[in-house]
Amino acid sequence: MTQEARLTTPDDTPPAAVPCPICGKPAAPAYTPFCSKRCADVDLQRWLSGRYAIPGREEDALGQDDGSREE
Ligand SMILES: [Zn+2]
Repeated sequence: MTQEARLTTPDDTPPAAVPCPICGKPAAPAYTPFCSKRCADVDLQRWLSGRYAIPGREEDALGQDDGSREE
């Protein structure tokens, strides 16, 4: 009796190449999901600038609360 149970399927498929979100080039393993440090840096800058770009809402002057006025 020969039992050839092939439960393990050889997966020789290359890892899904995720295009660099910045320039669209295939990402480099070292800089996934970016293709290079430069693009990673660009994204980082975008992220940071995005955070800093958040408009600081000027909080309205607090309602003047002069304590309780009794008459
Ligand atoms: Zn890139």
